[in-house]
Amino acid sequence: MSQQLTWTAVDDYFNGLLVEEDSALLDALRDSAAAGLPGHQVAANQGKLLNLIARARGARSVLEIGTLGGYSTIWLGRALPEGGRLVTLEADARCAEVARANVARAGLADVVDLRLGKALDTLPLLVEEGAGPFDLVFIDADKPSNPDYLRWALRLTRPGSVIVGDNVVRDGAVTDPDSDDPRVQGVRRFTELIAAEPRLTATTVQTVGSKGYDGFTLALVTG
Ligand code: SAM
Repeated sequence: MSQQLTWTAVDDYFNGLLVEEDSALLDALRDSAAAGLPGHQVAANQGKLLNLIARARGARSVLEIGTLGGYSTIWLGRALPEGGRLVTLEADARCAEVARANVARAGLADVVDLRLGKALDTLPLLVEEGAGPFDLVFIDADKPSNPDYLRWALRLTRPGSVIVGDNVVRDGAVTDPDSDDPRVQGVRRFTELIAAEPRLTATTVQTVGSKGYDGFTLALVTG
């Protein structure tokens, strides 16, 4: 069996026992694909991981940067208790339209506040309106902007908050300091900023699975 087939088979095995994708999640994937959105959403087991992190943290407020069709939004929104709130930022109008429909079908329209616009425009507005602090921030948009997203995340969190950054390994390309890929340089700078930030302690986990080889960084705001 090829490596990718093995990874997918292992995901299928564990997901079959531990990760339930109900109709709202499956319909969100179907309608996102039908609308022509790229399949860049988190895998089901990663969505469940985000859900578990939010619940373990006891998160009441979540900020997501990068909505796509709302698949991870649904996993995260479902982690919130009564009265919880999730703000998700998306630059693409078509994605936002599909996501709004998917989120509504999942019964989360009253929980999710989708802001359409480039995140570097909408994040300052969140600070201005006093939207934080958020208990969990999920950074999953354009990777070249990750360093800026981290700076905004620090302004919008408090000690005890968790910041997760997705797709930081990039098939191992992250180890190349001379990469001319701005996404690689974005995640490298993001990681260097975390390392130098006394208010954060963090780790990065490489992942393999149905979506190939990548990884995520999890940071805890400590001060
Ligand atoms: N979090 C989603 C999930 O797992 O279901 C996947 C998000 S996808 C990897 C990245 C999303 O970020 C895309 O929908 C893209 O349109 C959006 N995006 C890209 N640049 C952006 C920006 N500057 N501001 C806000 N969103 C942006």
